[in-house]
Amino acid sequence: MSLRLKISTVGEPVLRQVGRELTVEEIHSPSVRQLIEQMRETMRDAPGVGLAAPQVGMSLQLAVIEDRPEYHKGVAEEDLVRRGRTPVPFHVVINPKIRLLSEPDVVFFEGCLSLPGFTALVPRAPTVQVDCLNHKGEPVRIEAQGWYARILQHEIDHLNGTLYIDRMLGGSFASMENYSRYWKDKSPEEVEELASCGCHGQ
Ligand code: ZN
Repeated sequence: MSLRLKISTVGEPVLRQVGRELTVEEIHSPSVRQLIEQMRETMRDAPGVGLAAPQVGMSLQLAVIEDRPEYHKGVAEEDLVRRGRTPVPFHVVINPKIRLLSEPDVVFFEGCLSLPGFTALVPRAPTVQVDCLNHKGEPVRIEAQGWYARILQHEIDHLNGTLYIDRMLGGSFASMENYSRYWKDKSPEEVEELASCGCHGQ
């Protein structure tokens, strides 16, 4: 039996709703445990580094995150370093409260499984603090930086009905095909310069 769930795409109202918080009892329930399993399989299958419950049609404050070492194999070392991208083990984020510990002024191309085939430059804070519950319903505090901080901001946005297109530098929005053709090999500064159109979403 496939555990994979259908991923909602942009335009589906669930992606614009604020997810409901889960109680600790719900977190321990078989249905939420199964949902977490299914979200993990769906994220790995995509593949993606994060998946929020609204992306599988569930308006809940729940997301899964995992940045596996094998995802980094095809990426140049300097790109990993520039993005502050290091492996992140699988974990679950429930009812999160996020605090940006620095200005959202680091700009990189970002994509989303709910906007397949597109990408854009999105400014994000390089360091964040997240207070949430883990898969056991225990309170945890996450201090994150670099790409992991970006993933947390992206996924927690989903739980509040926000998509990266609300925060992107509008002039940089591109199909993946055109990203590869025109943007990929440019420096982040060059791209930001070319894409600046005064419509910063933040
Ligand atoms: Zn997304």
